Amino acid sequence: MTTQTPTTWPEGVIGRYLTVGGATVDLTHRFTVLNPPEPYASLATCNGCSATEERNHYRTYYPSGGYLSDAVEEHEPDVADSVARDWAQAHAERCRALPKPTA
Ligand SMILES: [Zn+2]
Repeated sequence: MTTQTPTTWPEGVIGRYLTVGGATVDLTHRFTVLNPPEPYASLATCNGCSATEERNHYRTYYPSGGYLSDAVEEHEPDVADSVARDWAQAHAERCRALPKPTA
């Protein structure tokens, strides 16, 4: 995506929410140490109060009444992104922490 933004976001930031306190909640992906690195989780981090919410891209489903060996691991990065975005949005609406002074 090549979206024009009024201010420069740190590298890797895919979403940013302004809190009522004037800080920001940044949405990023966490990457594995593989080469090339692969995103494995969506992470929302508040720069005001340091609250974070991490959602893994992989979800394990267990069949009802089934055996653990029947568990299926699904890769759902979009679901993780959307949960992290919802958290970021909700947190931004109630966080009154001021942004940390930049050194
Ligand atoms: Zn906060």
